[in-house]
Amino acid sequence: DENKDLASQDTAAERRAAQPGRPAVEAKRVHKAFGDLHVLKGIDMKVMPGTVTVILGPSGSGKSTFLRLINQLETLTGGEIDVNGEMIGYKRLADGTLQTLNDKEVAAQRAKLGMVFQKFNLFPHMTALENVMEAPVHVKRMPKAQARELAAKELTRVGLGDRLDYYPSQLSGGQQQRVAIARALAMKPEIMLFDEPTSALDPELVGEVLGVMRQLADEGMTMIVVTHEIGFAKEVADQVVFMDGGVVVESGGPGIIDDPKEPRFKDFLQHVL
Ligand code: ADP
Ligand code: MG
Repeated sequence: DENKDLASQDTAAERRAAQPGRPAVEAKRVHKAFGDLHVLKGIDMKVMPGTVTVILGPSGSGKSTFLRLINQLETLTGGEIDVNGEMIGYKRLADGTLQTLNDKEVAAQRAKLGMVFQKFNLFPHMTALENVMEAPVHVKRMPKAQARELAAKELTRVGLGDRLDYYPSQLSGGQQQRVAIARALAMKPEIMLFDEPTSALDPELVGEVLGVMRQLADEGMTMIVVTHEIGFAKEVADQVVFMDGGVVVESGGPGIIDDPKEPRFKDFLQHVL
């Protein structure tokens, strides 16, 4: 099966070579303004299937806004984003004009994406298992027995097979974030978006979450990760994008971290390292 083949390919380069063709996500001249505040000023980005893109950049540079646009939590004010070759949010009519998609069409597009935030936002009155079952049961109308099985499988995948019946308050921050990752995976996304998933964690808990993300990358998951974890970017990313002031200042392979060209990127790296 395809996943097995992907998992057996050790390096990101091998994965990339095995996944030619159409980007999983393509941003074209993406703009976003909140009123007078012009946050994104023409972002271009291509993310190929089975690859990991790490977005770096100072606070306020528009990284979260960009992820939220991909997941249609915000609407574009210019440009276009395609997911699997399909424009998000709009369809083009025969006469060439754009029409806004209806809620059902938007939901179908969003179902391709899983998102993990800095804050895990688990339901406190539900166990880990119940948190992960929630969307399959209520969004996908999956029978409970099947959802329970799926949730147990996804929690085992993130190393929490022995914590199924624990409540969030009984779990560490790192374990809670892994539950949040399992919750996203249970919806079978094709692409995972991570917005600073380790920024709220105590330093000693960061590694277990990055470990799960690295494992997902090794399994061939397409991922866009906003993080300040430079080591993770160097070791796991196929593509590194440095954003500042709403534009992509520099991008390339992970090697650009050790050999930055742009002064703003150099300066940023000196501050985070
Ligand atoms: P980053 O994730 O890189 O720190 P953000 O995308 O969160 O940056 O924010 C970029 C800029 O957009 C900031 O100046 C922020 O205050 C502004 N911003 C983000 N969301 C909104 C919003 N909903 N309304 C107004 N301004 C916003
Ligand atoms: Mg942010």
